[in-house]
Amino acid sequence: MNYQISQRAASLSPSLTLAIDSKAKAMKAAGEDVVGFGAGEPDFDTPQHIKDAAARALAAGFTKYTPAAGIPELRQAIADKHQRENGLTYKPSEIIVSCGGKHACYNVIFATCQAGDEVIIPAPYWLSYPEMAKLAGATPVIVETTDQTEFKLTPEQLRAAITPRTRLLVLNSPSNPTGSVYTPEETKALGAVCVEKSVLIMSDEIYEHLLYDGATVQSVASFSPAHFEHTIIVHGFAKAWSMTGWRLGWCAAPEPIAKAIDAIQSHSTSNPTSFAQKGAVAALTGPQDHLPLWLAEFAKRRTYAWQKLNSIPGLTCVNAKGAFYLFPNISRTGLKSTEFCAKLLEQEKVAAVPGIAFGADDYIRLSYATSLANIEKGLERIERFCRGLL
Ligand SMILES: *Cc1c(COP(=O)(O)O)cnc(C)c1O
Repeated sequence: MNYQISQRAASLSPSLTLAIDSKAKAMKAAGEDVVGFGAGEPDFDTPQHIKDAAARALAAGFTKYTPAAGIPELRQAIADKHQRENGLTYKPSEIIVSCGGKHACYNVIFATCQAGDEVIIPAPYWLSYPEMAKLAGATPVIVETTDQTEFKLTPEQLRAAITPRTRLLVLNSPSNPTGSVYTPEETKALGAVCVEKSVLIMSDEIYEHLLYDGATVQSVASFSPAHFEHTIIVHGFAKAWSMTGWRLGWCAAPEPIAKAIDAIQSHSTSNPTSFAQKGAVAALTGPQDHLPLWLAEFAKRRTYAWQKLNSIPGLTCVNAKGAFYLFPNISRTGLKSTEFCAKLLEQEKVAAVPGIAFGADDYIRLSYATSLANIEKGLERIERFCRGLL
């Protein structure tokens, strides 16, 4: 049978992060001693009170459809979070709960972009953004940044990339894959260009709470009423509450966009899982005392890994102020990222993600969401690998 695959689907690049991950898992299953730096999720368990709230809801029979955009209690808790932590006033009707932050991004792009539109995506980028733009029929416009500017887009670069077709800028701070964080001033300036040029901003703030060295972030929506009107925030429970498998995220958007997203979601997934939403309410309204413990642990690993990476011949690494990734530059090893990672896995049994997956072929992504012992062992192996190359 000659199956015809839609142009939409055929145009996608399969997720390279998942490909490396499955190869590493297969090696592990075969009994090999693999050190994995591929994880895109915290290595901590979901806090107990969140699990309890979901379990109680399940036991009480909270197992039916909810409104497509989420239960009122959760939309209110999210609106309260934005008021309390970001000084942003959203009505519950401007909050749409989706099946993960990724799903929220997808909905936002589908609600705002179509054929002929351009979506500006600074590289290194989270690998799903360009594919989502393509799925919506729009054209991703990639603007490259390097470690020389800590992987940050400048207002001049943004201005130069904007055309009459530009619809959306994707911002992600703290960033996956680089861990880079825009200062409030930098964020405000990028927002001002978008306001001036009538470009919407999709601000992916899922790593908002994972910050180090006293770094702060401020949502681009918060600088002026005009900034607010041009911004759609994407957020989720996956990272700061370690709920990746729960599939729960949200967006906060001006009402007309929120309505469009609600309509899209009502014809695709419908509501996110009913009892999981009850867990999410507990995540936002319950104690947050897990977070400082996790941050202290992440900070310790980050400092160790950053120092060690910079001592390895052939590698340089800027220190990242957020998320749980480091993004070392491998250009002095003479290898591009795919070959580097394939050989590293083969020779040293260390799994890292090639930067090309994020539009940056001179880098690799290392996640430190794994134990310090693993990090020490893995970096020793990376050092041996690099010495062998030079
Ligand atoms: C993890 C992540 C998300 C959301 O992940 P979900 O599991 O779908 O909630 C969104 N954006 C970035 C940049 C991420 O790293």
